[in-house]
Amino acid sequence: MSRDAPIVVSPPTAETGLARIRRRMVSAAVAAGRDPGTLTLLAVSKGQPIDALRDLLRQGQRAFGENYVQEALPKIAALRGEDLSWHFIGRLQSNKTREVATHFSWVHSLDRLRLAERLSAQRPDHLAPLDCCIEVNLNQEASKSGIDLPAVAALVAAIDRLPRLRLRGLMGMPAPQADPARARASFAALRDCLATCGGALDTLSMGTSADFEAAITEGATLVRIGTALFGPRLPRGTVPEG
Ligand SMILES: *Cc1c(COP(=O)(O)O)cnc(C)c1O
Repeated sequence: MSRDAPIVVSPPTAETGLARIRRRMVSAAVAAGRDPGTLTLLAVSKGQPIDALRDLLRQGQRAFGENYVQEALPKIAALRGEDLSWHFIGRLQSNKTREVATHFSWVHSLDRLRLAERLSAQRPDHLAPLDCCIEVNLNQEASKSGIDLPAVAALVAAIDRLPRLRLRGLMGMPAPQADPARARASFAALRDCLATCGGALDTLSMGTSADFEAAITEGATLVRIGTALFGPRLPRGTVPEG
């Protein structure tokens, strides 16, 4: 290399993962003609150690999403006293509903009336009603969780009758291998479904690291972002406690 070769120094960047994601969210909203103030960022902290959550917390992040009750409880305990909202976004099992009803303020993955009834019955009286989204299955082939779009209206009506739940909207996640055009069509379908559900529902929980900008274009009000904020996850069962 010649002595005169220009030395390219990348500018020092103070911009963190959080700032970068927020900026991309704002750009996507503005490009879609939407008010960025209507968007919520849920930091999906499954597979992340407590220090990574503390780091985001220091930067002002307040909403965290977890998939596994056993992993979440020590984090919730460690950060008790902070004014945080904890969102359960994982597969809900009936033997875990009491812990979810007690320790979380949101559940995004409601897909059975039986689970909704348990959560409503188990929500402690001193807490506000549990905010909930119905999870909709957006990839008909590999249907693992969520209900099909045509079944949404009936479940909305049934959940509306439960006193200790507050139904907020719909959650969906396209197949991980879906191409961007198909993911976008799925987001649009979820938005159209919400529009048929009546005025009280205000939440469209859709979009992850891979596709949150497309989700915002199609009307997401809450995006659930993990790896693009935190970096790679630790393998399950290896997240240190406390
Ligand atoms: C893990 C997870 C996310 C976050 O996924 P990333 O690709 O890390 O952004 C969002 N939603 C649900 C339901 C998840 O399980």
